[in-house]
Amino acid sequence: MNSIYLDNAASAPILDEVIEVINRSLIEHNGNPSSTHRYGRTARAAIEQARKSVAQHLHASIGEIFFTSCGTEANNTVLNCAVDQLGVKRLIISSIEHPSVRNTAFFLAEYRGIELIELPVSEFGRIDLVELEDHLARSDQKTLVSIMHANNEIGTIQPIAEIGHLCQKYNALYHTDAVQTIGHLPVDVSASYISFLSASGHKFHGPKGVGFLYVNSDNIIEPYIRGGSQERNVRAGTENVAGIVGMAHALSYCLDNLPEKAQYVKELRKYLIDKMEEKFPQTELVSYPTTDDCLFTITNFHFPQSPKSDLMLMNLDIGGISASGGSACSSGAEKPSHVIEAINRYDEDGKCVRFSLSFLNTRDEIDQLLVVLEKCV
Ligand code: PLP
Repeated sequence: MNSIYLDNAASAPILDEVIEVINRSLIEHNGNPSSTHRYGRTARAAIEQARKSVAQHLHASIGEIFFTSCGTEANNTVLNCAVDQLGVKRLIISSIEHPSVRNTAFFLAEYRGIELIELPVSEFGRIDLVELEDHLARSDQKTLVSIMHANNEIGTIQPIAEIGHLCQKYNALYHTDAVQTIGHLPVDVSASYISFLSASGHKFHGPKGVGFLYVNSDNIIEPYIRGGSQERNVRAGTENVAGIVGMAHALSYCLDNLPEKAQYVKELRKYLIDKMEEKFPQTELVSYPTTDDCLFTITNFHFPQSPKSDLMLMNLDIGGISASGGSACSSGAEKPSHVIEAINRYDEDGKCVRFSLSFLNTRDEIDQLLVVLEKCV
């Protein structure tokens, strides 16, 4: 039985050449980057080279990139530091943010008395810019807007340039969780008003356990994790040198010839959607059909109730297909996804399944998925 991996939004398989870069780094960079001797300096130089590369890809300054342990840490850092250090009294998020934003916002509302506004979304997961502007105009309390670039369960792309423009107009800070888009969509932080941006290595074929945070130079934050003076006093803790170097390499790999890679996955996505429509007309695509509005790596289908729908993910797994019922954090846990609920597609008996793609997948794999699905619906 072939094993077919269609859960790239949960974690995109690490590339062989990234593993090679990491292995080399583990051998060559075995000093502590904070040490001043030659081993330390070599490790430090590798980190700074990685920072330069990441910054260039985002059109950021080198001093605006801070390495973290993951996207979750980057998101937590922004929300907590904005409240504790930047005088933020009000948070505006969408109702489909990742739990690392959503649960942090709930915590800050409950324990720090922060006003929290959760913007509803359309049936495909888009926020309403007019509604956002109404909220921004209504109060002059210092506000952080945290709205993701693309959603991890349904792929919806939010209009981050327009959101940034509104935040600038009303003097609010803007954070975007770009964990699903960095490495897949070109992002130029200098072209839009973005105060903070979060990313994670394992979503673009890099290693797990490493991410980064972009902090626009207008905003100075103190550490969320305190200790030594690593990451220019913004994030304490000995750096994951090999992870950082591997992540930077993975990002360069993904962004090299990006239009060709993206076109390939877009065609694969269209093939999957067309075939699903043809073979399983009872299913409904809950993601936007077009890749102007939806990240090309993500599809999410609603399967109506059937005697087998309860065990669908398990049966797919038995058939060799790795897919997900929601984000990785909630897959496995049989509770309704807040994203599927927010777009009004939750039904107790049916099932939403996310198939997320990468340039490593093939049409042949989609054909095999369709064969396995025959036995699962
Ligand atoms: N934000 C989004 C949109 C995600 O999809 C994820 C992971 O699924 C995260 C944040 C958390 O990233 P990490 O796994 O690096 O903590």
